[in-house]
Amino acid sequence: MVKYVVTPSSETQHAAWRSGAVPEVERVRPGLWSIPVPIPVNPLRYVLVYALELPDGVAIVDAGWNTDEAYDALVAGLGVAGFAITDVKGVLVTHIHPDHYGLAGRVREMSGAWIALHPADAALVHDRYDDDAIDSLVRRERAQLGRAGVPAGTLDELAGASMMIRHLVATAKPDRLVEDGDPLGLPGWDLRALWTPGHSPGHLCFVSPSRRLLFSGDHVLAKITPIVAVHPQSRPNPLADYLDSLAAVGKLDVEEVLPAHEYRFADLAGRVGYVVAHHEERLAEIEATVAAVGDGITCWDVATRLTWSREWETFPPFMRRAATNETLAHLVWLEDRGRAIRVPGEPDLWFPGLP
Ligand SMILES: [Zn+2]
Ligand SMILES: [Zn+2]
Repeated sequence: MVKYVVTPSSETQHAAWRSGAVPEVERVRPGLWSIPVPIPVNPLRYVLVYALELPDGVAIVDAGWNTDEAYDALVAGLGVAGFAITDVKGVLVTHIHPDHYGLAGRVREMSGAWIALHPADAALVHDRYDDDAIDSLVRRERAQLGRAGVPAGTLDELAGASMMIRHLVATAKPDRLVEDGDPLGLPGWDLRALWTPGHSPGHLCFVSPSRRLLFSGDHVLAKITPIVAVHPQSRPNPLADYLDSLAAVGKLDVEEVLPAHEYRFADLAGRVGYVVAHHEERLAEIEATVAAVGDGITCWDVATRLTWSREWETFPPFMRRAATNETLAHLVWLEDRGRAIRVPGEPDLWFPGLP
């Protein structure tokens, strides 16, 4: 498959990304700022927080991780834009992942801002981040990985793989629940929410029709494709959700995409077309892998046979888990269309669909 390269809409930001640096705080348009907030030990390096000027302060899209370094970068970035942390009136969170939502609670504590989240992600806050619920989540994850055929010796390691990042989120219940199509009511902004499930069940994008801007969160990015995986908190067929919401976003008439990582870009439709083709290719590869074995294969065994960007053996545990759950999302999509058949068991076995 030919690599599709989007057109970056800011050369400065793109150059910083390429050189491995964290980009500068930038004024994207009048009244709109891009503030990179560093993420510790992660190849993505930073999350792009956007600050939208309001008559009496500022609203931000996403917040960053709950670390002092991230908080300081956010405060400094708002300073460049001419605002203090106490000026933040609202935090629009695209989704519940810790690099977007982690710092929202601390921003609210300092400023009294409201936090907005889609109900489907708001419903996961307790399960994901509260101490009394976490054991049950790990147990469900372990059971699912067992059914996927993860070898017994690595089950515990894989099931608990993201526990070490939990402290990067301050559990904060949202103040506002935002659904598909809801206007955000920010003075001076015709901003509207789009529910774009797939990467997370309640992922939101925000669109400004008059400015022709899309705040895309992790839904559409310039270079990487977001993880779309089956896990205990996902909806039943997250890849179908993702491809549907991708198609919907691809029809928007926008001039610039403001994603949460990497760099901003133009040509949304082109990028969406590429990501759809990428998943179609993956679906075909997985279908062929199941067919080549023919007499039943586990999801884990499918995952280890696929082509990945690096050697499977070099994947750290959390990446093996993500790769397994992502493969499962593709198998479930194929099952839904009769292109693969699951025989439930311990583990589940996958067979080719009926011709
Ligand atoms: Zn994410
Ligand atoms: Zn992210």
